[in-house]
Amino acid sequence: MAAYEYETHEYDVVVVGAGGAGLRATLGMAEQGLRTACVTKVFPTRSHTVAAQGGIAASLSNMGPDNWQWHMYDTVKGSDWLGDTDAMEYLAREAPKAVYELEHYGVPFSRTEEGKIYQRPFGGHTTEFGEGPPVQRTCAAADRTGHAILHTLYGQSLKQKAEFYVEYFAIDLIMSEDGQCQGVVCWKLDDGTMHVFNAKMVVLATGGYGRAYFSATSAHTCTGDGGGMVARAGLPLQDMEFVQFHPTGIYGSGCLITEGARGEGGYLTNSEGERFMERYAPNYKDLAPRDYVSRSMTMEIREGRGVGPDGDHIHLNLSHLPPEALHERLPGISESAKIFAGVDVTKEPIPVLPTVHYNMGGIPTNYWGEVLNPTEKDQNAVVPGLMAVGEAGCASVHGANRLGSNSLIDLVVFGRAAAIRAGKVVDADAPNPRLNQASVDAAFDRFDGLRYADGGTPTADLRLEMQKTMQADAAVFRTSKTLAEGVQKMDAIAERLGDLKVTDRSLVWNSDLMETLELTNLMPNALATIAGAEARHESRGAHAHEDFEKRDDENWRVHTISRVNGKDVSLSYRPVVVDPLTTESEGGIELKKIAPKARTF
Ligand SMILES: Cc1cc2nc3c(=O)[nH]c(=O)nc-3n(C[C@H](O)[C@H](O)[C@H](O)COP(=O)(O)OP(=O)(O)OC[C@H]3O[C@@H](n4cnc5c(N)ncnc54)[C@H](O)[C@@H]3O)c2cc1C
Repeated sequence: MAAYEYETHEYDVVVVGAGGAGLRATLGMAEQGLRTACVTKVFPTRSHTVAAQGGIAASLSNMGPDNWQWHMYDTVKGSDWLGDTDAMEYLAREAPKAVYELEHYGVPFSRTEEGKIYQRPFGGHTTEFGEGPPVQRTCAAADRTGHAILHTLYGQSLKQKAEFYVEYFAIDLIMSEDGQCQGVVCWKLDDGTMHVFNAKMVVLATGGYGRAYFSATSAHTCTGDGGGMVARAGLPLQDMEFVQFHPTGIYGSGCLITEGARGEGGYLTNSEGERFMERYAPNYKDLAPRDYVSRSMTMEIREGRGVGPDGDHIHLNLSHLPPEALHERLPGISESAKIFAGVDVTKEPIPVLPTVHYNMGGIPTNYWGEVLNPTEKDQNAVVPGLMAVGEAGCASVHGANRLGSNSLIDLVVFGRAAAIRAGKVVDADAPNPRLNQASVDAAFDRFDGLRYADGGTPTADLRLEMQKTMQADAAVFRTSKTLAEGVQKMDAIAERLGDLKVTDRSLVWNSDLMETLELTNLMPNALATIAGAEARHESRGAHAHEDFEKRDDENWRVHTISRVNGKDVSLSYRPVVVDPLTTESEGGIELKKIAPKARTF
């Protein structure tokens, strides 16, 4: 057994992650007087949320008629009927409240002439239950919305005396023998000390796992650590096959150009200069949802109408927009286009390509953020002491496809919901749990094994192989053949985790070891993604399967539950929640309005 000395910290709540979701949860917990720690591997305001440009959806009606029922409908349809209806209702209903709270906390939103929060159009957001014109629902702080939210929430959390443990890397969950989460084992990156956090509630807010792919808009820190920890604790992941490709990553670098660029009037063209989205989505054109636009772009390229010397990308045009509008509404992306594509957006189109952007799947939760461990007897069984929020979680409000600007709102609505729930289930006066020492020791043993890993495969090499395989075989277009091959390749790649070579044995700023821990987290996420995709014989949302082109509600309107053990993935399925929280007579939405139908734009 590996002997590491460690310091023990006791809290009511430990939040792992300081992105939008983690900070909103931390703030809400601390506001209620719960002793709250927030553990984060990067400085809070460097979390990936800082990069969110476009904005945050809420039916404020500042720019024209809107209501939460329309927002809910769009989310249901956007999810391709795979989202849980109760959670989607909760999201749309609570969204305006959550945004006004942000405003009062101090988020510097852009303003209309009358001084109200400015809102822009975003793909898939419409009026009249999808029958009316697009709506301006996405609240924005220029094109730096995530940045503004993150800084505000961090400041407010400090004000509420939440305690931050910055540059602490969470290694594994501490689980009791009867399946209760009791805390988390951490490694302090800058001095090599070890820390055990004992808590009545652990909240995983560790973000997505975009870095399982070769080309992603997400930060290099988005390595699915929460999903990895959960898989190792024997708990499941949900709907991992649904990976969103953003239509407009800058060709080459993957750096994001926000959908807000099309919201402000930008459009896509092929090598013939044609605005091809008019053919695929006659009504919403360039503002059709992301899966639709990404797929259309890929079709154009496959059919030989891509741009560039290799005909392998598409153009995004903004040069027809007034330079003042670009300057005022899209300053950040003008800069990105200059730096990463060498393009002056007032004169030339930006070369773009669909790029991995968001993970709809994650740790299954109910709409209070409580982690689920479905059993045959109880599909909604809750794991005591464990919550998951933000991109790491799967409530599920995005189902098979997330609408733009629905993630930031998911972070704050469910970060807040988790805090409300914790206020009810965490007893601040009760003693902390007695830690299961075997679970603590197991975490240190795993850590130590990786620290002294002495095989033949450097971490960076294996990571690259995984990323290339996922990019080639589990991307926008999927066939039975590519997926089956992908599963086999990933199986062989995961096998080689046993042959890793770590060269640095120190405990202080050992990035080799940290990246190795991250790779052991990326891997279960990637395995669940490709296994779930191979098994799902239909096309739904982001999962477009060339051999099964239609959505199959009879057999496949179910969540995929995957349990990853080493390199083995076992799959089962759980029903989608189809009932909303409230009925029509209670002010809710009419059930037949949200019944599945063809998803056209
Ligand atoms: C470029 C880009 C632009 C986007 N734009 C928009 C937009 O305009 N609107 C929208 O709605 N959505 C947008 N999204 C999506 C949205 O921003 C993300 O889904 C969201 O920010 C994720 O937030 P989060 O709080 O879940 O995680 P993150 O912000 O990724 O934060 C994760 C946190 O977990 C911590 N962490 C992770 N692992 C560990 C560990 N092992 N130990 C300790 N700490 C750990 C990290 O330190 C970090 O603090 C965008 C995404 C990208 C990549």
